[in-house]
Amino acid sequence: MRSISIFGATGSIGESTFDLVMRAPETYRTVALTGGRNIARLAEMAIALRAELAVTAYDDCLPALREALAGTKIEVAGGEAAIAEAADRPADWVMSGIVGAAGLVPGMRALRHGGTLALANKESLVTAGPLLMETARAHGATILPVDSEHSAVFQALTGEDAACVERVIITASGGPFRNWSAERIANATLAEAVAHPSWSMGQRISIDSASMFNKALELIETREYFGISPDKIEVLVHPQSIVHALVGFCDGGIMAHLGPADMRHAIGFALHWPGRGDVPVERLNLAQIGKLEFQDPDIAKFPALRIARDVMEARGLHGAAFNAAKEIALDHFIAGSLAFPRMAAIVEETLSRMNGLGRTAANLDDVLEVDASARRVATSIAGGR
Ligand code: NAD
Ligand code: MG
Repeated sequence: MRSISIFGATGSIGESTFDLVMRAPETYRTVALTGGRNIARLAEMAIALRAELAVTAYDDCLPALREALAGTKIEVAGGEAAIAEAADRPADWVMSGIVGAAGLVPGMRALRHGGTLALANKESLVTAGPLLMETARAHGATILPVDSEHSAVFQALTGEDAACVERVIITASGGPFRNWSAERIANATLAEAVAHPSWSMGQRISIDSASMFNKALELIETREYFGISPDKIEVLVHPQSIVHALVGFCDGGIMAHLGPADMRHAIGFALHWPGRGDVPVERLNLAQIGKLEFQDPDIAKFPALRIARDVMEARGLHGAAFNAAKEIALDHFIAGSLAFPRMAAIVEETLSRMNGLGRTAANLDDVLEVDASARRVATSIAGGR
């Protein structure tokens, strides 16, 4: 029986993972489930999967979790350290589905058991790509990408010679503001930014899709995971979200990966890898779809893509600072204290104010220190200082 843990179980990725696991619960032994403030849902999932441990990220939610699981044999814990400790419990397959840089430490710790890390938390690769990949290598662990584009690239590359890869193209829906003028984007509201046209996702990634910071993170993720040089990685706008990525080879051929906009495909692929298993997603009817549309991204309207290019080239600790500043800018936009286009400006200014980002992170502490100082710098810029 395969042992599993789900980090960020109550989120959008976590729910999709739970859905797949619940279709064959007898196949899995659940070690740990983690969540945030949605205690009722976390407890419900822990009971359904007979988890050994349920952890809330927040200390103040622990009494409620304890109460919800009273009378069961499920252990409970709360707080950031408890989340990391949950990753110290060995599991064969671990879903890294926490949002933000908070997903980095548990993912790193889970890799030490040498199992499989299904990596939805793109921030891990953006902030600490080389360390993460090296930790996996050192412990014989496997990282499988669970981003629709990266799972698509992974699948298109299977059995191929990396030396023959000319380019990797990740697609972008373009988000809700694809056809908006810069003036209109300047006044975008939270509700408008969250309303993604083709994917149903958590609030933060939905807004990142509207600003194209999500695609910016994914460019860096592609560079770090596949080790492909930045000049070979392209973004193509594809509003239908049917083609998730394309890989072009030296003979002019292109392998494209198509599928419905449902993360259960990428999660299911990671769950069944190295084989394939049935996944209950809608099957595409291409005749009904009729035609596929593509266009170039508008870099002037979505500067996140340009900033990401610089980060991909510079590497070192730039990704950690980039992501932290983006998270702070996003917090301010969600709180209503920042105009939508200011997010990119804050990220760019944070990067320009910080020194020493060119050095390679020697360890996780280096990354966490830069993350913390970039948050301070971005907070002061957002506050007008
Ligand atoms: P979400 O907001 O729906 O869920 C996030 C989960 O993380 C929740 O369980 C929440 O309780 C937990 N969490 C939040 N802050 C935490 C913290 N500080 N410490 C511990 N746990 C915390 O997010 P999501 O949309 O499921 O995205 C999760 C990750 O997967 C993100 O990195 C995102 O970029 C990536 N991803 C998501 C999708 C998608 O379709 N949702 C697609 C590709 C990649
Ligand atoms: Mg994606």
